[in-house]
Amino acid sequence: MLLSMSRQKIVGLTAPSGAGKSSIARRVLDAFPGMHLAVSVTTRAPRPHEEHGKDYFFVSLPEFERLLAEGALLEYEEVYPGCFYGTPQFTSEEVNGPVLLDIDVKGAANVRATIGGFFIFVAPPSEAELERRLRERGTETEQTLLTRLKRAKKELAYADQFDALVVNDSLDEAADEAISLIASYLQHE
Ligand code: ADP
Ligand code: 5GP
Repeated sequence: MLLSMSRQKIVGLTAPSGAGKSSIARRVLDAFPGMHLAVSVTTRAPRPHEEHGKDYFFVSLPEFERLLAEGALLEYEEVYPGCFYGTPQFTSEEVNGPVLLDIDVKGAANVRATIGGFFIFVAPPSEAELERRLRERGTETEQTLLTRLKRAKKELAYADQFDALVVNDSLDEAADEAISLIASYLQHE
């Protein structure tokens, strides 16, 4: 759901959970020092090593609803049942330079259609490898893992609806490919 508009250049990474968005996002941010990561707000619990304000703003559902009612979110989705994620509003006074979004496929399609920007779909080499990576990351219970895998099957069907598709087989190669696609978008826009 979209609540407002932005004048910043937007670059989005979208993918099923576990495909490697966060890993690629870290390298993209290193490659473009002027780029600003839009830190999302979520009602999901923090994982070990995740920091409030750096990885996400972790909030309760009432707090999320308050932000929504205040118009503080640019978009939001209930990505998993009962689990909400939203992108905070940003203005050109607060943010200089392009903004990087880490966003689910529905949110990405929404922002792209209404505000625009350049969106890369990050695909895993296979569903089996996606499951292996999610299990190896060790952040999910069996229940949340199954929810994510089930949703991933649907999300993979959206792979060709964005501006570019990067298969994250080798992380080095996938990150380099994303960086060069983004560089060319930023140069020509
Ligand atoms: P997402 O942000 O899309 O959920 P992550 O970046 O957290 O995905 O990656 C999921 C897991 O897979 C992490 O443990 C990460 O270290 C690992 N990973 C990411 N890219 C690769 C890759 N190309 N090869 C092997 N493991 C990877
Ligand atoms: P995770 O729980 O693995 O960090 O994220 C789950 C999913 O939510 C991922 O697809 C991620 O891209 C998406 N997501 C994270 N932040 C946002 C956001 O602000 N808005 C939307 N729509 N999706 C988000």
